[in-house]
Amino acid sequence: MLSQSSYAALVAHGIKPTVQRLAVMGYLLEHRCHPTADEIYTAMSRVLPTFSKATVYNTLSLLEENGAVVRILVDERRTCYDVHTAPHAHFYCHQCGRLHDVQAGDTLSLPAVGGLPEGSRVESVSLTYRGLCPECLARQQADSHATFANP
Ligand SMILES: [Zn+2]
Ligand SMILES: [Zn+2]
Repeated sequence: MLSQSSYAALVAHGIKPTVQRLAVMGYLLEHRCHPTADEIYTAMSRVLPTFSKATVYNTLSLLEENGAVVRILVDERRTCYDVHTAPHAHFYCHQCGRLHDVQAGDTLSLPAVGGLPEGSRVESVSLTYRGLCPECLARQQADSHATFANP
């Protein structure tokens, strides 16, 4: 079932399916939580010990070049991969590092920004909200209450 959908996803983007590509695409389809290349590699190497880090990185750039996945630069240390390729915004919790999808319908419409060089063509926009997710916010509030109670 899953390998069928990863097969279909590869073929739809004109990528020749190989064992490695099917495995990486399958992992991304199953884990829609925006894993990093290292997280994908760690998970892959458990199932397929012959998988090298270079294979994972090369496979990911091939998938990206062919539009099967989108690479999201959260910050300079964290690059995530997303199989949800339609434009959408993200919410990033800097405490737990989780990246959530913010649904914006089929198109992400942004207010027009001024100052673009005249005659330029915008091809993509990435929008990431940053802050604390509800769980981290609750934990932070609980912690501050605790210090308050026991000075
Ligand atoms: Zn969080
Ligand atoms: Zn996403």
